[in-house]
Amino acid sequence: MAVNAETITDSTNQKFTSLLQSDALYQYILETSVYPREPEPLKELRGVTATVERSHMATTAHGGQFLNMLLKLVNAKNTMEIGVFTGYSLLSTALALPDDGKILAMDINRENYEKGLPIIEKAGVAHKIDFKEGLALPILDQMIADKTCHGKFDFIFVDADKDNYINYHKRIIDLVKVGGLIGYDNTLWKGSVATPPDAPIPPYVQYYKAFILEFNKALAVDSRIEICMVPLGDGITYCRRIH
Ligand code: SAM
Ligand code: CA
Repeated sequence: MAVNAETITDSTNQKFTSLLQSDALYQYILETSVYPREPEPLKELRGVTATVERSHMATTAHGGQFLNMLLKLVNAKNTMEIGVFTGYSLLSTALALPDDGKILAMDINRENYEKGLPIIEKAGVAHKIDFKEGLALPILDQMIADKTCHGKFDFIFVDADKDNYINYHKRIIDLVKVGGLIGYDNTLWKGSVATPPDAPIPPYVQYYKAFILEFNKALAVDSRIEICMVPLGDGITYCRRIH
């Protein structure tokens, strides 16, 4: 797999990458089954996100569509998201949850969240979101110290600093309920996980690659979960807690 994943420009002129081997195939998916079904607020949020620095960090419309369906399939009600950015995955989640559903959302940066917030409010789902500004680890540690938080979450989506994924896992495995689901985003890390150690890749990709490789190995031998690495977007590993 090429480390330079395909770069694609979508209808809002947003650039992002796909691990698919062909631009045309990805475009086909988007044009045929994603964009025509994308809810208006998500379309609007994608447009706003395209104007923000590092807009490539946002979950794609295809990723959001998958997330939305998955949440409905597992009847998720109480959820958590680590790494919000402008809120594309957050709004995809909020639109999937029942009216009394909850999302504990965390990010060190409130400014980007606030760029998407008016759209989330207009969509009528802001009441489901409890946004906490700050580093995720101390917030998780507080919840670990409070036994009432254990096993409380139906679904947790992790999409923040990749060098902390293993630290997040050590904590959220106790916060998700038995039978609940955790999604770790970017676990194929731009295809770099399958490239030789001396492959010429950008320094930031190289830096996080080591952490993602270790993390993927750790998940593969963790007997508390069942896993499935889904090659959608930049790769998402879904973990179902079994005990
Ligand atoms: N899930 C978002 C979406 O769908 O658009 C994308 C999230 S973006 C890839 C990663 C986010 O994680 C950034 O907004 C960044 O500020 C946040 N972040 C990075 N390190 C963090 C930390 N230690 N604790 C909380 N958030 C963090
Ligand atoms: Ca991501």
